Order: sequence, then C-alpha cells, then structure tokens
Amino acid sequence: MKYLFEIHCHTSESSGCASETAEATVKAYSEKGYAGVVITDHLGIGSKKDDWAEHCRRQQAGYRNAKAVAEKYGMTVLYGAEITVRPFGGNDFLCLGLEPEWWTEHPELEDMSLYDVLKTVREAGAFISHAHPFREANYIKSIVLVPRLIDGVELNANRTDFENERAAEYAAAYEKPLTAGSDNHTAHRQKRIFGMDFYECPKTEKELAELLFAGKYDIKTE
Ligand SMILES: [Zn+2]
Ligand SMILES: [Zn+2]
Repeated sequence: MKYLFEIHCHTSESSGCASETAEATVKAYSEKGYAGVVITDHLGIGSKKDDWAEHCRRQQAGYRNAKAVAEKYGMTVLYGAEITVRPFGGNDFLCLGLEPEWWTEHPELEDMSLYDVLKTVREAGAFISHAHPFREANYIKSIVLVPRLIDGVELNANRTDFENERAAEYAAAYEKPLTAGSDNHTAHRQKRIFGMDFYECPKTEKELAELLFAGKYDIKTE
C-alpha cells in the first residue's frame, strides 16, 4: 500500500493568489483518495513588509486550519513553505520538513541572500525542491538555477509540458531527484493533479523529509 500526497498547494487564508480555503483543499484531496496534503503557502523573504512573527503567523494560518480538519476528513496534514527571496521574485523553492515554529524562530532569514537562506534551511534539515524552475511569466525577471543548493526539482501540474521537460533535463543533468506537485490554488477546481506516492505514510514534517531524502516515493503525473 502506498500513500498518495499533494506536496504543493495553497490556501486562501494565507496565499493571496489562492481562491479556496484550507478546509476545501483538504476535502478535495480526501475525495480523490489521497492520504495527505502538505500545505505550502507562499512565504516572502526579504520584503520586510511587517513584523516577522506576524508575517509567519499569517503564512501558517491556512496550514493550521487544514490541520484542524485533518481528522474530520481522515487525512494527514503537514506543513511546508514555498519561499521566494528578494530580489529573485517568482523564483520559488518548496521547503519541506521543518515545522512552522522553526520559521517563526528565524527572523534573521529576512536579511539573508538567497544563497544563505537556502543553506540555512537545508542545514536545519529541510528537503528543498525547486518549484517550477523554468516557469516564465512577466513578473519573473530571470530564470535562477542554484543546483548546488537544492535537493530536488519539481514537475508542476500547472506548468506547460515545455517547462516540465526543461525541469526534467535540469534534474537529470545534476542528478537531482524529481518531485511532483499540483501548485493547487483552487482546491476541487484544480484540473490537473500531480502527486507523490510515498512508500510509508509521513506523519510528521521530519518523516516527510526522511522519505524525500531516501527517495521512498514514486511520482504521479497524469
Ligand atoms: Zn500562488
Ligand atoms: Zn505554489
């Protein structure tokens, strides 16, 4: 038996670009037979818009709401963060394996370069997958590749075949494993779903990172 997980999704409580709530997201995946979801709302670093603790509290709100209904839907809910570090807006990295409290306790990230943020997050035990590395959009000024600072490369259900093919080539060239996720911002209205089929059910963020580092999963791309 395997355990299907969504490891890249957003909630309207925490991501301005998402249109559905945490509960709708958990419900949508339970109806698809998933074992769990990792809520990976956007976490901007380096913008210093507000107090870091408050910044983190808002970013974690969707996760906390999802966690509160996990039992109701028979789902495992874990925390993750999709970070973007100024000035590299739109270059997103999925950080998996750290508890929300870790982020709140590290306000110094705000003053770090992308290099130092990724290094610090990794040293703390996270598995970092570069989300949609070849995404092209008018707000993304350049494609930023940092192969020595990541653990995996994402195939993303919301991106084009062209962008995902380039991601697969990038992963192969640097011998990085692929991860798969939907980047779901719309719960049940998400059309294409990519998932992670884990050999064991991760029950904590730490277990999630262990399974990722051990490669104990298959990717599911429709
Ligand atoms: Zn978004
Ligand atoms: Zn995303």
